[in-house]
Amino acid sequence: MKLFAGLEQIIKTEEPMAPYTWFRIGGAAQYFIEPTSVEQLAEVLKRCRESEMPVRVLGGGANLLVDDSGVRGAVIHITGEKFSEVAFTADGVKAGAAADLSRLVLRCVREGKSGMECLTGIPGSIGGAVRMNAGGAFGDIGSIVETVHLMDADGVAFTRMRGELTFGYRCTNITSTVILGAEFRLLAEDQHRVLNQVKQIWIYKKNTQPLARRSAGCIFKNPRGLSAGALIDKAGLKGRNVGGAFISDKHANFIIAEPKTRASDVLKLINIIRETVYKRLEVYLELEIEVW
Ligand SMILES: Cc1cc2nc3c(=O)[nH]c(=O)nc-3n(C[C@H](O)[C@H](O)[C@H](O)COP(=O)(O)OP(=O)(O)OC[C@H]3O[C@@H](n4cnc5c(N)ncnc54)[C@H](O)[C@@H]3O)c2cc1C
Repeated sequence: MKLFAGLEQIIKTEEPMAPYTWFRIGGAAQYFIEPTSVEQLAEVLKRCRESEMPVRVLGGGANLLVDDSGVRGAVIHITGEKFSEVAFTADGVKAGAAADLSRLVLRCVREGKSGMECLTGIPGSIGGAVRMNAGGAFGDIGSIVETVHLMDADGVAFTRMRGELTFGYRCTNITSTVILGAEFRLLAEDQHRVLNQVKQIWIYKKNTQPLARRSAGCIFKNPRGLSAGALIDKAGLKGRNVGGAFISDKHANFIIAEPKTRASDVLKLINIIRETVYKRLEVYLELEIEVW
């Protein structure tokens, strides 16, 4: 590990990725790196850059399918205390990229702050949520972002303000390698009203999504004006499977992975869905999840 000399304590080689994803599927990462400080993260990025090693950044692993063959290069896992700090301010909250989104939603309730409740039931980290502009029918995280703290591939940290940022449907113009954290605008609100809102969204999601099963959330983006789930259902695919990968009965845009499912099963099922929906309904479905 000459390349990472002096950093051995934060690096594992050929680390299985499955435990780090919500699908619980996937091969090993060649280099799996968990920096414990911003300085260490910058050093890791510099070394990867110097050796032209490909870098991927992992948050909560809730939007990922890792291939059975694993990931070549470096997977940098943004985790741990230094990246998870949360501090409430007069008009919002500042959160590190590794802070857990669902826990932050509940802390906002306790603090009597409104703005994050629309993100109820969305698993993952703040970094992943900002990168994906996580959200849905109730709103998205981009609408409350004030500032993001970023690091580029050379390990240089910088900040972008609201006016420089754009957020769209599961996308943003943030292209920097790492999101270090963000500040969000919140409004003071009666605790019970915020809690009620969270409860209502949670009940709705629990009734319509298989939240307790292994998945990566919605597999496909909704085509403009259409629902990917409704299209998959209409194409007669609900309940279809390849090996242990099933199209959910509850929400046809979710693929559920039974224990021992392989990434190749999920990928085959994705192809079947795409081909069938295209053949029967002439709509091409674009992936929402990322495949590594
Ligand atoms: C049961 C279930 C329900 C879901 N429901 C929703 C929903 O309603 N709405 C929705 O939008 N999504 C939903 N998702 C998908 C997922 O929760 C979101 O996309 C979430 O924001 C991903 O965050 P993460 O930390 O897990 O990111 P990961 O899956 O780890 O990564 C996703 C992407 O973000 C990048 N990334 C992660 N952290 C960082 C960082 N610190 N810096 C730079 N890049 C980073 C990764 O490189 C990758 O490109 C659901 C998933 C599940 C399993």
